[in-house]
Amino acid sequence: MSLPTWIKHHLANPCQQQWRQAQSLGWDIDQSEVYCPRCGSSINIQAVTKRGCVFCVNQKLPWQSLHRLSAYHPPMSDWILSMKFARQWRWGTHLGKIMAQQWDWLNHLDQVVVCPVPMHWLRRWHRGFNQASLMAHSLGKARQWPVTSLLKRTRHTPPQTQVVPSQRAINVQGSVTAKTIDLAGWTVLLIDDVKTSGSTLKTCCQVLRKMGPSEIHVDVAAVADPKKSDFTTI
Ligand SMILES: [Zn+2]
Repeated sequence: MSLPTWIKHHLANPCQQQWRQAQSLGWDIDQSEVYCPRCGSSINIQAVTKRGCVFCVNQKLPWQSLHRLSAYHPPMSDWILSMKFARQWRWGTHLGKIMAQQWDWLNHLDQVVVCPVPMHWLRRWHRGFNQASLMAHSLGKARQWPVTSLLKRTRHTPPQTQVVPSQRAINVQGSVTAKTIDLAGWTVLLIDDVKTSGSTLKTCCQVLRKMGPSEIHVDVAAVADPKKSDFTTI
């Protein structure tokens, strides 16, 4: 006996449907040739040197590489906003799964631990979930890698988008602590939904570095261009 149509519709994953629909219209995740592997900015890879791209040249970044599924543009920006502000938590699971399935570069990593960017308990209570944690658990499950909340937010800070650019690093400074775990020999995948100024990710990596991992790679669903208006809508 087959299920009634309305039950099938209810059970269907709306994220998968919207994802497929976007692909049918020609959208897809970014290939590595269209963004800088250091900072994630949109740029032709041929314009990136060992010192970085025009946006990150000579900047000392506390991670080995940064990967993104997309720039912070529709449809990805719409999906992320619905995840964060319309309680569409399934997007977290879906995006983590897509990272695990479609990023071949992950195949070359050994002894990996997946770690979400932490969220202060007050914001988590308000939102009901940490989207970075959903993504991290989904990626870890698909790849059979351990997922651990190595980091903790000790201070409730205003969202970075509500802080002027010059104050963003100060806003998150000292707001993250770590468990005392020896990560020697481990590769950490640090997961977040969106990279904006990068201040939060840098703070997290600086704390992670004290645990001595071999490498840290940052994986985000989207990278916002701080020079454009999309930066203020997150
Ligand atoms: Zn760059």
